Amino acid sequence: MKNENMLSSGDTVLIGLSGGKDSVVLTDILGRLARKMRDLNLVAATVDEGISTGESSYREEALGYAREVAAKFNVPLHVYSYRELFGGTLDSYVRLRVQNGSACSVCGVFRRRALNEAARRLGANKIALGHNKDDEAQTVLMNVLRGDLERMLRTAEGTHELVRRIKPLRRLSEREVAIYAYLRGYGFQSVECPYSRDTVRDKVREVLFELEGHVSGSRDALLNFEDKLRDVARAGGLYAKCELCGEPTSSSRKLCKVCEYIQEFRRLSGLNPEPV
Ligand code: SF4
Repeated sequence: MKNENMLSSGDTVLIGLSGGKDSVVLTDILGRLARKMRDLNLVAATVDEGISTGESSYREEALGYAREVAAKFNVPLHVYSYRELFGGTLDSYVRLRVQNGSACSVCGVFRRRALNEAARRLGANKIALGHNKDDEAQTVLMNVLRGDLERMLRTAEGTHELVRRIKPLRRLSEREVAIYAYLRGYGFQSVECPYSRDTVRDKVREVLFELEGHVSGSRDALLNFEDKLRDVARAGGLYAKCELCGEPTSSSRKLCKVCEYIQEFRRLSGLNPEPV
């Protein structure tokens, strides 16, 4: 963290605390650090997507783990829902087949926006995410496979974001994070998101696992590649502002993806889209 200047004196860091093992470990590590760095302020946000697993909400179990680790380190925890922020649950967006996007595509852009909004409301100047090396390498490869350079730069840490993202676990493998969680005695979420099966990420995960077995260091190489591209992004010129909400979007768009989803959701629900 020190080498990459992730934290500075006086920072208020919003932890994206889903309650999964990565974000629990992240909260543990930052919580321990905050005990030593007295001028480091931590707050946490859990995003409730509105995903039903039949009997209950998918987020319910994880929220228990989130509350536990937040209480252990005296980190105030706030819960934000897609329903409150975007007018509908993820289930309702998927039911209406908004833009025919996969659940994860919709969920990903909403979560990103929800955390930006949470940071604004809570006065945080940085957002800490628990993405590990495996997650990050998968994301880089998925963006390469889609040929989506803009998305790759958008998801890279610390590029054009209104609130800077930091990813302290980015160079730790999923296995290392799981071992840490186990050794510290944290529980693991047993409920799986019903939308997580047979996704592109699933396939990419398998490919990378196989590749790493043959070419050691593949995941690190992908992250190095992303880091170099990030430097290009910092030179600017790739982003514009959404005409509706003012958040950054790619230079070829008038509206950001979140506003596009909300506009279509309103149309499909029989509500008037907001004028642009
Ligand atoms: Fe959202 Fe997809 Fe993750 Fe489920 S698996 S929480 S839909 S991003």
